[in-house]
Amino acid sequence: MTLKTDQKSAPQYAHIAIDVPLRTLFTYRIPKDFKDTIQRGKRVIVPFGRKEVIGICLKIDGNLSGIKETDLKEVLSVLDDSPLIDEDYIAWLEFASDYYCTPMGQVFSQAIPPYYFDIKKTESKKKIRFKEISHDLHLHSRLVTLTEEQEKVYDEIIKHSHEYFPALIHGITGSGKTEIYIRLIRKVLEQNQSALFLVPEIGLTPQMMARLNEHFKGSLLVYHSGLTKNQRLNQWQSCLETTPKVLVGTRSALFAPFNNLGLIVVDEEHDHSYKQEDRFRYHARDLAISRARQRNIPVVLGSATPSLESFFQTKRGKYHLFELKKRIAGAALPEIRVVNFGREKEQTETPLLVSQSIHDAIGHFTKKGKQMMLFVGQRGFSQNAYCVSCQQIQICPNCSVGLKFHKQQGNLKCHYCDYSIPFNGECLSCQKKALTLLGFGTQSVEEEISSMHPKLVVTRLDSDSVTNLSKLRQVFNDFAQGKINLIIGTQMISKGHDFENIGFVGVLGIDAHLGLPDFRAGEKAFQNLVQVAGRAGRVDKKGHVIVQSLMPDHASIQMGIKQDFQKFADHELEIRKALHYPPYSRLVQFRFLSTVENRLKDFMGTWSVFLDQVRSQMSVDDIQILGPTEMPIAKVRGKHRHHVVLKIKRGLKISDIVNYLVNDLNQRKLTGIQYQVDVDAVGLV
Ligand code: ADP
Ligand code: ZN
Repeated sequence: MTLKTDQKSAPQYAHIAIDVPLRTLFTYRIPKDFKDTIQRGKRVIVPFGRKEVIGICLKIDGNLSGIKETDLKEVLSVLDDSPLIDEDYIAWLEFASDYYCTPMGQVFSQAIPPYYFDIKKTESKKKIRFKEISHDLHLHSRLVTLTEEQEKVYDEIIKHSHEYFPALIHGITGSGKTEIYIRLIRKVLEQNQSALFLVPEIGLTPQMMARLNEHFKGSLLVYHSGLTKNQRLNQWQSCLETTPKVLVGTRSALFAPFNNLGLIVVDEEHDHSYKQEDRFRYHARDLAISRARQRNIPVVLGSATPSLESFFQTKRGKYHLFELKKRIAGAALPEIRVVNFGREKEQTETPLLVSQSIHDAIGHFTKKGKQMMLFVGQRGFSQNAYCVSCQQIQICPNCSVGLKFHKQQGNLKCHYCDYSIPFNGECLSCQKKALTLLGFGTQSVEEEISSMHPKLVVTRLDSDSVTNLSKLRQVFNDFAQGKINLIIGTQMISKGHDFENIGFVGVLGIDAHLGLPDFRAGEKAFQNLVQVAGRAGRVDKKGHVIVQSLMPDHASIQMGIKQDFQKFADHELEIRKALHYPPYSRLVQFRFLSTVENRLKDFMGTWSVFLDQVRSQMSVDDIQILGPTEMPIAKVRGKHRHHVVLKIKRGLKISDIVNYLVNDLNQRKLTGIQYQVDVDAVGLV
């Protein structure tokens, strides 16, 4: 007798991504009830430690992941009828997880609204309500005729609207980039697809929002970290509707779950706010590229000062470069002058913070009824307190950085950890009344301007004076309505605003960048100069800019005032190449933190033996390992910091090398030491 056995298939296990900092999926047994429903992309409830958590199922196979079958726990329930996210999207996040060496659970927790992982919400059986608002797609008119230059860019990109087409639009401020984006988005909507428009900081672009709203009212969604949890959820779910949408947002908007995405625009692509600095340390511009590649759609990067990374890609023929050389209506580029502030200081008896030429210009443009902006590199008084007796700067006890004087509160404050102590002139270490203040910031400049030009209405705009978005909008509104003559601000004011009546921009404190131990210092100084200058004389009025500097001959400053991006890029790329810095290599930073300095030092000593072995196995052309060393800012919030920096040749697979090091670290006892991996680290300080 032949026993007809059911062709019993081998047992299957579910591998679940859970939001914990472990680089692994977690394996569970699948009870019979869920055999048919469990699926990649669906959420499940599983026991984890002593809790029950929601995770996302990523794999179902016969692999036990080295765990004894009897030790396995069971999936408790499957939450979704159909996968929460589609295969495209999961595959893209898997790429990101691998590239940034971040576990999938943590990637998901960044990408997907917290609502979906909130177990209380599922227990109460509160169903997620889909608000299918039928947004009629009505594209508002009032379109300008594109210039020939603009038309060319538009045509070329639209020609490739159904394939992966990475484009970099390098165009000075006012050259009509935004108008091209708008036209592209319209076209994409007409083709029944959605568009994603990324901006560095949404609160700083009320005008951009107003402009987009004019065109895309009814289809416009906004997504940024300032939204409440519910608002975020709402916007996220709206992206799942079938009518095409335009989503404007900051970096996290990139994770919108569109399944009809047709275009991504990354405005001000050089901006460092696109890099997330904790947990999942992704760069939204770079992930936008990979998203576009995987969906076969165009991605448009735009900037007046492209990042060297993106520009380099155009040189290698990987991205398509488009240049807008003229301002719309032939409006002149601002005239930029640099004054040698050091020399001026030597020659004058009253040492001012602001150059006499800037004071003169303020007088001149006030008479002409123009508005003005002063860009100051640092907020507050940005004055360090220096003890003339022990000849030292007062340092934060938690962080190895100087404390800054804040006059209003009358205290010394740390800009890294918010530690503060009252300032009474007394030195923290020798207790003598021997402190004197050095340097300057927005507040001290404001004082000087107000006392020298008492009739002007002056407003300060920095993170001390403007603590929320509505306050910020208020300032911009007042300025637009002419209620304010002069704004003094940090880089906050150098972003994206379009004021018609600005006649003069003064730039102070640009030198501060150049003194930092940062290989991007020159690039930042250049970008800042060009961006700030772009605020002056937009549209048809010729603007004037004066930069005061102690290093007027520095290459970045000279090329910045000439606004000569090509020349700057060539110059800077040569330096990067010689030093094996990005874009010629990729940087991976391993940061090690501990409250106990000796413990950290001991560990770094041990690990450097391992690193030497790695070095001996690798060719220096492929990979250079720097360190371990103390980080330039050696202590932050009470934690000592050391780092190891890898420079990895382009084209090598980063995750292979990084995982090799991470696996080694995971086998060591790291008691009391935290480590972080930052792929394509932006700053190394
Ligand atoms: P960018 O984004 O490069 O700073 P914008 O697209 O904002 O430049 O254009 C600058 C100004 O010129 C805006 O006020 C815009 O409305 C206007 N503008 C842009 N393109 C045209 C055009 N083809 N015809 C007329 N005005 C235009
Ligand atoms: Zn501090």
